[in-house]
Amino acid sequence: MAVQQRKTVVTETTTTTKNVDHQVGKTWGRDRDVSFGTILISLGILVMSPIWVLYTYISCNGYQCAMSAPALEIYNAPDALIALKTLLARELPTFSPYAARLFFTWLTFQAVLYAFLPAQIGYGQRTPAGHLLPYKVNGLLAWIISHAIYAAGGLYFGWWKLSIIHDNWGGLLIAANAYGYFLTFFCYIKAHLFPSHAADRKFSGSFIYDLLMGIEFNPRFGKYFDFKLFHNGRPGIVAWTMIDLSFAAAQYQKIGYVSNSMILLNLLHATYVLDFFYNEDWYLRTIDIAHDHFGFYLAWGDSVWLPWLYTLQSHYLVRNTVDLTPVQFGFIFAVGFTGYFIFRSVNHQKDIVRSTNGECMIWGKPAKVIRTSYVTSDGKTHKSLLLCSGYWGLSRHFNYVGDLLISLAMCMTCGTKHLLPYFYIIYMTILLLHRIQRDHTRCKGKYGKYWEEYMKVVPYKLIPYVY
Ligand code: NDP
Repeated sequence: MAVQQRKTVVTETTTTTKNVDHQVGKTWGRDRDVSFGTILISLGILVMSPIWVLYTYISCNGYQCAMSAPALEIYNAPDALIALKTLLARELPTFSPYAARLFFTWLTFQAVLYAFLPAQIGYGQRTPAGHLLPYKVNGLLAWIISHAIYAAGGLYFGWWKLSIIHDNWGGLLIAANAYGYFLTFFCYIKAHLFPSHAADRKFSGSFIYDLLMGIEFNPRFGKYFDFKLFHNGRPGIVAWTMIDLSFAAAQYQKIGYVSNSMILLNLLHATYVLDFFYNEDWYLRTIDIAHDHFGFYLAWGDSVWLPWLYTLQSHYLVRNTVDLTPVQFGFIFAVGFTGYFIFRSVNHQKDIVRSTNGECMIWGKPAKVIRTSYVTSDGKTHKSLLLCSGYWGLSRHFNYVGDLLISLAMCMTCGTKHLLPYFYIIYMTILLLHRIQRDHTRCKGKYGKYWEEYMKVVPYKLIPYVY
């Protein structure tokens, strides 16, 4: 196994001091005491998320992705209960041993690639307990190998049809759910019995909240097999583009060509996914890795929610052919790639300012930064900095504006006849608005007075002069 040391992008210096500015906040990481309302919402998410995925599956499989159709069928029936039972008997996905083998072979293959491919070593953010964890960064190579084998197996060797994922979609959904639930409960038990970093666990006192949001921060096998990075990246994001390609192949089999809307969708998704892997080291310092604990939210989310719902547009386009006019194509392309440009530029500014300790130019001028300190639970003080010029002077989350534009463009490839393909932009908007709030709580807990100062310098959260 070739492991190469990557340039560490860590700006903190560590000193032990008694004169600390502020102690590690209980909200840095996440709340320990959760309210009854939060527990109820958590229960709602645990119950409703799988139902929603199933509902979208049924809408697409049986009703051409018309979101209201299954509900209307039940609503308009003389006996709603009988109608529901009939609908479920007809439309529910069924267990398929072949699809289960496919899913678990895929998962094992990704785990082998993650563990054994040559990797550079990147570092995450310092955890609340003071750990600075190494990560294997080899996602781009895993993506290339996976897609090359998928294409060669389908086009050259004839091992499978390229539409194999589309053709086994229902059986794969069952297998992915089985794994997502297994992983959730396994991690819950692991957190109690054999945690990877005991001091970074958070117990909320609520079984439901802990199950949903996770207890362990960075569950691992051994030194490098990180559950969070692996599951988000590999079964989640490598699968994303492969699912799209498989649905494009299914469209080709169905109508004899691949529509320009499907091509544009594949292009936008592939840009986003390849950017993710090309910049995988950057991802180690985003909220997903630096803040979220590993529970149902990520375990089931990466196994089911992400592959099933982020690809809804390609499911739609197989069932509803959309041929874009050149003007529509150009417009959607422009929205998507403007969004991508913003998204990448904003994230790059943060990375560059942190990796140079603020000694860099932003938009042709020396970067303006607030130098901060914060304290980890081991009592050590660390230094960091907050950029407040360039995009980061416009608003505190301008990167989300770029992300929302790309997401909108992805949905627009499906035209305007149905709402379901727009689920992604609706979901991303809610997710990112909620994330702004979560990040604010986290950063306030971590940086205290420095965060207050930053908020005065950069008052807007998302869109300058609007929000
Ligand atoms: P950010 O990359 O904005 O990271 C926020 C963290 O950056 C803060 O917690 C803080 O962490 C640090 N920070 C905040 N302000 C500053 C500043 N002024 N200067 C330097 N550092 C600062 O957010 P996310 O991790 O949420 O998002 C990363 C990207 O991923 C975004 O572009 C987002 O749109 C995208 N995304 C995509 C999703 C998808 O499902 N497609 C889901 C969520 C996000 P600290 O100081 O501790 O380092």
